[in-house]
Amino acid sequence: MRRKLVIGNWKMNGSLAANSVLLRGIAAGPANQNVTTAVCAPAPYLAQCQAELAGTAIAWGGQDVSAYAAGAYTGEVAASMLQDFGCRYVLVGHSERRAYHHETNELVAQKARAALDAGLTPVVCVGETLAEREAGRTNVVVCAQLQAVLDVLENPALEKLVLAYEPVWAIGTGRTATPALAQELHAALRKQVAVRSESAAATIAILYGGSMKPENAKDLLAQRDIDGGLIGGAALKAKDFLAITGAA
Ligand code: PGA
Repeated sequence: MRRKLVIGNWKMNGSLAANSVLLRGIAAGPANQNVTTAVCAPAPYLAQCQAELAGTAIAWGGQDVSAYAAGAYTGEVAASMLQDFGCRYVLVGHSERRAYHHETNELVAQKARAALDAGLTPVVCVGETLAEREAGRTNVVVCAQLQAVLDVLENPALEKLVLAYEPVWAIGTGRTATPALAQELHAALRKQVAVRSESAAATIAILYGGSMKPENAKDLLAQRDIDGGLIGGAALKAKDFLAITGAA
């Protein structure tokens, strides 16, 4: 049985004052022994997450990581720096990074490897746009995104990977994939991992992301291959986030 994992993706939201209220609200919530919970905050606030969450059951992480270890890469954040601030996770290849920062499948794969090399768990995001879905290309697109990552990872590291299926048309739109549709994609992703490693396929958590909310979390999380959620908008209110972790 894979343990459920619910991660909040704050995106570019927050302030010291607002984060403090949110983090305390989450930390004060009822503990759910069946779920691992984490928040991925903007880099400047990772020290605050560390200060507020150390000693609680909640983990934290970054939203992006450099593919390089160190050096002349202005503006980048290295995996070792995320480690320094106690991060356990880092999002890699979120669709907003792919769309606005032109991150390719290959770059995303290098970032996943850099994270693993530093002892972080990369949460590799994959997903199709509406145009790709309507053109019947969903599986081709999503499988290519995953395959680029599989191609650069060796087997033991592979088992530490977390995947997030986030259909782009469902992100921040209020339009959620149906549980059946999400399950179909999750099963396809797991099958693709199994071609490389049966044990990795059995171990890897595959999260669903895209307008997951308290109202739809239970049905999504009840699906066989949906091991948790990557939560954007609903992660910015402690009450909503806790309702989702409670549903897992
Ligand atoms: P959303 O975002 O929950 O606001 O749709 C999810 C994500 O982008 O990770």
